[in-house]
Amino acid sequence: MGWSIGYDSNWRRDVGYGVPAYCDHPTCKKVIDRGLAYVCGGEPYGGDRGCGLYFCEAHLTWGVRLPQLCEKCRKRQRPFKPKPEHPRWIKHKLTDESWAE
Ligand SMILES: [Zn+2]
Ligand SMILES: [Zn+2]
Repeated sequence: MGWSIGYDSNWRRDVGYGVPAYCDHPTCKKVIDRGLAYVCGGEPYGGDRGCGLYFCEAHLTWGVRLPQLCEKCRKRQRPFKPKPEHPRWIKHKLTDESWAE
């Protein structure tokens, strides 16, 4: 099924549904994963319209002819600052080599 873990060279961080992460909204502490269900733009790295950051359901909006977008991209503003990696993911990367091919 592919895309459990990948690398986003734009934001320089790990992505995919195997990666636990905080919602990238500045005031949100919800833990999600970096799968396609949560990416702004609806495609890896954000597609044509999205910033490629990851948000919980409360911080994505769906338009009629638009992909899921964060509030910044919906208004065509500059994206939020990406959040630091989740501590669980940092620990996983430090202690488990199996994720790397
Ligand atoms: Zn966005
Ligand atoms: Zn959120």
